[in-house]
Amino acid sequence: MHSFDVVIVGAGAAGLFCAGVAGQLGLNVLLVDHGEKVAEKIRISGGGRCNFTNRDLDPRAPHRHYLGENPNFCRSALSRYTPSDFVALVRRHGIPFHEKHKGQLFGDRSAEDFIRMLLDECGAGGVTHWQPCTVQEVHGVEAPGGARYELATERGPVQGRHLVIATGGLSIPKIGATDFGYRIARQFGLRIVPPRPALVPLTFASADWAPYAQLAGLSLPVAIATGEKKSRMEFHEDLLFTHRGLSGPAVLQISSYWREGEPIRIDLAPGVDVAAQLRRAKASSRKLVANELAAWLPSRLADAWAAQDPAWQRPVGEASDKALATLAERLARWSLVPDGTEGYRKAEVTAGGVDTRGLSSQTMESSQPGLHFIGEAVDVTGWLGGYNFQWAWASAWACAQGIAAA
Ligand code: FAD
Repeated sequence: MHSFDVVIVGAGAAGLFCAGVAGQLGLNVLLVDHGEKVAEKIRISGGGRCNFTNRDLDPRAPHRHYLGENPNFCRSALSRYTPSDFVALVRRHGIPFHEKHKGQLFGDRSAEDFIRMLLDECGAGGVTHWQPCTVQEVHGVEAPGGARYELATERGPVQGRHLVIATGGLSIPKIGATDFGYRIARQFGLRIVPPRPALVPLTFASADWAPYAQLAGLSLPVAIATGEKKSRMEFHEDLLFTHRGLSGPAVLQISSYWREGEPIRIDLAPGVDVAAQLRRAKASSRKLVANELAAWLPSRLADAWAAQDPAWQRPVGEASDKALATLAERLARWSLVPDGTEGYRKAEVTAGGVDTRGLSSQTMESSQPGLHFIGEAVDVTGWLGGYNFQWAWASAWACAQGIAAA
């Protein structure tokens, strides 16, 4: 039987990084993954360039960029391993990168650079890497020197003093996502916060969407909101029309907060006082209402919007004050109730996961001694923009340090 200090299941962002750090701290590490290719999600991330962290992350106020039943759980790990720490690692490996907008850092060349970096870090830590290799079963065993975990794998049985579950969430099953992490958590008596797709396009009933389906591919900056009072969230980002609904950064961000049956509200011309502009136009312009709207909206959207009401399909000078006021109000507060999401097939992440109340925020160890959970498997979900990778790095680092100190 092979025996290791640490067995890590899942060689994605969190598992690879944890393995490298733990190995370099002198631990004897086995990393196992069932996928044919290593770190497929890093490979496809950030449009192939990997948005690997975000400079705007404020670890003292994690609730600003992370959600979960206890959004403060991630504070400890995020403040001990920061975006600057990961940037320093990226620089040490000579990987060129740049900042896009809102603090998002991307590789200049390809996400492959980051996979190579993480594999090199594992190499420097002497990590044993079995991939592809399926894990059939896990159980706890009593052994001299304390409890251990025994895994039945395709390559034979192995034991670890610590078992780290880094198998991620349910998003993108076609590249290897499974519910393994949740099954292991339940097996050892831990609670799971019900998982749901997040950072995901929203869909609408086909009858409701018919007037907008022709706009697929059109994109514009908007303000988007959901929830009321304390639970209200608002983002200022780009919106993208699709054949079945809405996508783009604005919708991906709001989708993580949207709850079934609730409306989302969109301001299609943020920062523009459309009512005042239309009143002014009425006094002086001979253009059609749709042509006036095209000053602030893409013209295809302006046409589709004006086509919704006969009172808007005329020269602006002939439209009633009431019709123009209604038009301005609808543009600023387009309220619509999605009938669902595009699901795990398209979701960038899974919200929910292993309940953080059963985990140490210092070491990611669960109430079951020696069993740790890191990365997306945990009920910590970041905003779009590099926050999810930063959680993967920080939780992995905290876990490796915790095991080395145990
Ligand atoms: P993963 O990276 O998903 O790794 C889990 C690993 O576990 C996989 O290798 C899988 O093969 C393995 N595994 C699963 N089940 C088993 C099993 N039963 N046995 C053995 N192994 C198993 N986040 C950002 O911050 N920036 C971005 O630019 C970004 N872009 C994204 C783009 C897309 C299209 C998607 C889908 C996600 C993106 N994300 C991005 C989110 C980010 O990829 C994840 O949050 C991050 O990869 C989570 O890391 P993880 O290690 O927890 O899980």
